[in-house]
Amino acid sequence: MHDVIVVGGGAAGLTAAIYACRKRLRTLVVTLDIGGQTNLTEHIENYPGYTQKSGPGLMKTFEEQAKAFGTEFVFGKAQKLEKKDKSFLLTLTNGEKYDGKTVILAYGKVPRTLGIPGEEMYLGRGVSTCATCDMPLFKGKNVAVIGGGNSALEAAELGTKFAKKVYLVHRRDGFRADEITVDKVKSASNVELVLFSVPAEIKGDKFLRHLTVENVNTKKRRTLDVDGVFVEIGYAIDTDFVKHLVELNKEREIIVNDVGETSCPGIFACGDVTQILYKQTVIAAGEGAKAGLSAYAYLQRMEGKPVVKLDWA
Ligand code: NAP
Repeated sequence: MHDVIVVGGGAAGLTAAIYACRKRLRTLVVTLDIGGQTNLTEHIENYPGYTQKSGPGLMKTFEEQAKAFGTEFVFGKAQKLEKKDKSFLLTLTNGEKYDGKTVILAYGKVPRTLGIPGEEMYLGRGVSTCATCDMPLFKGKNVAVIGGGNSALEAAELGTKFAKKVYLVHRRDGFRADEITVDKVKSASNVELVLFSVPAEIKGDKFLRHLTVENVNTKKRRTLDVDGVFVEIGYAIDTDFVKHLVELNKEREIIVNDVGETSCPGIFACGDVTQILYKQTVIAAGEGAKAGLSAYAYLQRMEGKPVVKLDWA
């Protein structure tokens, strides 16, 4: 029986584990990978304490810190969560089961897809949802990046360093990304903005060769000769395995209060899986710290021990 089971090994989950372990709670992280979405960012310039660090580099530091405080790790995908009398039973897709007195949900989101013809067929053969992983494969080639948020603009910026030409396809002319990144992309000589346009179809032979886009106003279509299409249109959430236990909002994000408690006592949540605004590594880490401390306070209460006030009076 673990005191805390953390589902997810990104910035939120690893920070929750660090805080729980430092309270001498036996803590298990169940995760598909270490680092989560932060791994997908080539250069992190907005995590205080590091002027520049790679996403995977930063997450490696989190992992080492969690391990140093005694966090246990199991690699696998959570499939089922059941509430028992005084604990929770987590079942993984491989059938393994783990008991925890508390659970911290910190498993983030998965990349959203376009749902257009050819996308699935060319996934891994030109279609990618990870520019950091795959952009270097397109050295000297033409690529298209879809989206107007930080992920897309960062992918496009990375593309300027490898690809011959980067088409940035966005469905309107305003960007959600940070202005600093937008400016870098706009000033690059090998970027063409394809605005008010949405992808309609992906075609190729053995590998992807063409992306057809449609102008949302005129409905006119244009075919771009590209070898790579980077789908960077945000992330979707998979809360199906917990929806019977915790309250969700209409985006299916887990609703937490300001200390990471869900509607179910003993279950906490943090990071991108929650409704908390500004999906940033630094915020996920902060929310993870709160969830770890809240799990500790909950266990203290359950065991009839006084809850030590953690903040300065
Ligand atoms: P996002 O901010 O939700 O942006 C998604 C973009 O894709 C939007 O521009 C959206 O267009 C477009 N889009 C969505 N569905 C589409 C569809 N079906 N077809 C065409 N376009 C579509 O997602 P994100 O860029 O992945 O970022 C997610 C979160 O992580 C954000 O909070 C972001 O700030 C954060 N992030 C931060 C960093 C960093 O700080 N270094 C790096 C990466 C991500 P509309 O604008 O028209 O809705």
